[in-house]
Amino acid sequence: GYQRVVKENRDLYNMVQDLKGNIRVYCRIRPAFGTETRSTVDHIGDDGSLVVVDPLKPSKEVRKIFNFNQVFGPTSTQDEVYKETQPLIRSVMDGYNVCIFAYGQTGSGKTHTMCGPSGESSKDMGINYLALNDLFQLSCTRKDIVDYDIQVQMVEIYNEQLEIRSCTSNGGLSLPDAKMYVVKSSADVLSLMKLGELNRFVSSTAMNIQSSRSHSVLTVHVNGKDTSGSILRSCLHLVDLAGSERVDKSEVTGDRLKEAQHINKSLSCLGDVITALAQKNSHIPYRNSKLTQLLQDSLGGHAKTLMFAHVSPEADSYGETISTLKFAQRVSTVELGVARLNKESTEVKELKGTVDLGMCSARQVV
Ligand code: ADP
Ligand code: MG
Repeated sequence: GYQRVVKENRDLYNMVQDLKGNIRVYCRIRPAFGTETRSTVDHIGDDGSLVVVDPLKPSKEVRKIFNFNQVFGPTSTQDEVYKETQPLIRSVMDGYNVCIFAYGQTGSGKTHTMCGPSGESSKDMGINYLALNDLFQLSCTRKDIVDYDIQVQMVEIYNEQLEIRSCTSNGGLSLPDAKMYVVKSSADVLSLMKLGELNRFVSSTAMNIQSSRSHSVLTVHVNGKDTSGSILRSCLHLVDLAGSERVDKSEVTGDRLKEAQHINKSLSCLGDVITALAQKNSHIPYRNSKLTQLLQDSLGGHAKTLMFAHVSPEADSYGETISTLKFAQRVSTVELGVARLNKESTEVKELKGTVDLGMCSARQVV
């Protein structure tokens, strides 16, 4: 009976998925640490279903079923995760705007997925590095046909502080304080990542505090020009969000309270924007937070979006886990329209015709 309920739930989810567009949600569960013995994870299905249970109240047998595009269990590797992300990343080189963000409470594995394990910068690298390296390799492979220019910006949003100015020339946003780095080799990618780490890792405690309370955004700008002069322009936002944990207002004051309020606000704005897009509202509230303002061009109806919902398996996190999974499920069942190539789409299509893209078909979804 129980398996049947899970299956029926999954069938319903698949029906909704068939109707929707370009938002994908992957859930990743980090491994339990030595001291964490009771797991909230009851079952992970190959089909993207996830069943969680509160191990502290086993008698109640309240199992909750969630469905995502994919669920990565505690033994999943960085490479396995990247493999499922790669087609989306590569579509940036064909002119699609893409946004990938990691959501979840502090300690659930967001930074692990996006950057890799702290300290060991060349082992188990995360999506940021693998993506940039991949884009760079693609630009080399296609260099006789397309002249790509890849530039990278790294910014942090802390307490809604980040200066964003509209850039009238192309309608996008420019970040006056953020330096643009041109990437011309894999070595450039690596040194850039290290630089970003150095800038962020002031001291390990300060890093932990700051990284859990700020949104870290790595933006890749791609410009391509083919031999006939056709141009494509796209961007990829890779976002390690601030921790989504709810802070008990009665326990914090001053700076901590202010931080918590800013984080709550920007994460709920992100949810509002996605919901407004789903409902095809005429007004999308991008301007309500710096985060959504920054991501505007890659969160619109014509971009491709992937959210990683990160959860910790331990019993103590049950409440936060449920809250993350509910947010993710809400995001997962919205429709974001059909992904579109950027402006010069006819030229881009011509360009695509001349290049054997092989691995990256311009599918409308991931
Ligand atoms: P967050 O960024 O969400 O606060 P972290 O990525 O820093 O969380 O993860 C917390 C700890 O758990 C780190 O020590 C990290 O290396 C480890 N960790 C997280 N996810 C994994 C994973 N999938 N495999 C191995 N270790 C992980
Ligand atoms: Mg982190």
